[in-house]
Amino acid sequence: MTEFDPSEFQQLLLEWFDKEFRDLPWRQTRDPYLIWISEIMLQQTQVVTVIPYFQRFITRFPTIHDLAAADVSQVLKSWEGLGYYARARNLHQAARVIVREHAGQFPSTFAEVKGLPGIGNYTAAAILSIVWGIAIPAIDGNVIRILSRLFAIEEDYKSKEALELYRQKAEQLLNEQRPGDHNQAMMELGAVLCSPRKPKCSICPVVKFCQANLRGNPAAFPVKNIKKIRPHHPIAVGIVWKNGTVLIDRRPEKGLLGGLWEFPGGKVQPNESIEQAVVREIKEELDIEVRVISHFMTLDHAYTHFSITLYVYLCEFVSGTPRAVHCTEWRWVLPEALPCYAFPRANGRIVEKLLQENFSTSSAMHPSIRPPRLNEDKQI
Ligand code: SF4
Repeated sequence: MTEFDPSEFQQLLLEWFDKEFRDLPWRQTRDPYLIWISEIMLQQTQVVTVIPYFQRFITRFPTIHDLAAADVSQVLKSWEGLGYYARARNLHQAARVIVREHAGQFPSTFAEVKGLPGIGNYTAAAILSIVWGIAIPAIDGNVIRILSRLFAIEEDYKSKEALELYRQKAEQLLNEQRPGDHNQAMMELGAVLCSPRKPKCSICPVVKFCQANLRGNPAAFPVKNIKKIRPHHPIAVGIVWKNGTVLIDRRPEKGLLGGLWEFPGGKVQPNESIEQAVVREIKEELDIEVRVISHFMTLDHAYTHFSITLYVYLCEFVSGTPRAVHCTEWRWVLPEALPCYAFPRANGRIVEKLLQENFSTSSAMHPSIRPPRLNEDKQI
C-alpha cells in the first residue's frame, strides 16, 4: 500500500478531473446565482435529469431579482417533476432574503450563505469554494463514500465518530490552491467512478491510495449498521367530476410537497375498503359528499423515507360546497387546464393518463362525469 501523500492524491485527482470532467452548463460560469441553483437542483437528483430543468429555470428566472419577484406557484411550476419541492420553496425564500438583506448580491461568507433557507454545510462549502475559491471541503454522500473507501472506515457512516473522521480526512485531502475544482473533482469521482455498487476501480485515478480496493471489497463501504425498513402506505385518491370539471386542492405550504396541487385523498385506514377511504378522505378534506364510480388507475411511488401506492378512483360529486378543511384552497378545473397547475410527480401521472385517454371510456361513465367539451374554459 502506498503511503498516503495528500499532495500526490490532489495532483492525481485534479489531473483526472481536468481531462475527464463533464462539460455541464453550470461549469461554464462562476456566477454564484447559477452555481447556487445548480447545487440545489443536484441535491437528490441526477445530473442528466437536472440539465434541462436548470436551463429552463435560469431562462425563466435569469437573476436573483427575477426569482425573488416571482410568485411561489410559478417557481413550483418550473420545478414540477423534479421532486423534493421544499428545495424550490427555499430557493424562492432565499432569493427574497438576498434581495432584502444583501441588496440582491449573493453573500460571500460561510455564515451568511449557510443562514439562507435551504442551504446546509455541503451546499455552502460547494458555492463558496467554486465561486470564490474559499478553502472549505464540501462533504456530501458521494464524498463520504469515497472517503470511507479510501480509508476503509469501519464506523457506521452516520455515527458521530465517523462524521468527525470524514471531516478530518476531507480537510486533510483538500487542495487549498484549487478548492472549488477539488470539491467538484471529488463529486465527479463519486458520480462517475466510485459508484455505490460497482465502483470502476480499474480506471480510478486514486486507486493506489484506496484501502477498500486493496481489501477487495469497496462496495462494503460506507458501513451501514442500521437497516431501517421503509414504511409503505396505501393511499385512496378521488377524481371528482362535476359538470365536466374535476376537483383539485392545494396542500398546506409547510410539510411534504407543500403548496402543490393534487387530487383529494389520503391514507387508507385498517379495516376500510379503498372506496370507503376515498369517500371519507374527501369528506374530511373538503366537506363534500361523493360517490365512487370506478377504478381509474393504480400507481406506486417512492419517497426517501416511505413509499406509497395510489389507488385512484373516478367519483361523482353528490352534494355540499367544498371548504378548504385540510388544504389551503380548491378549484373545479377543466381537465385540459390541469397542466397549468404544479402537481407532485405521482399526481402528474394521473393528469397524464386523464389527458392521454381523453376519456374515451367516458361513454360508459355516469352522465355527470362525461368529459368536458374542448375549449370550454370553465373554472367554477
Ligand atoms: S479505487 Fe475504487 S473504491 Fe477506491 S476510490 Fe477509486 S473507485 Fe472508489
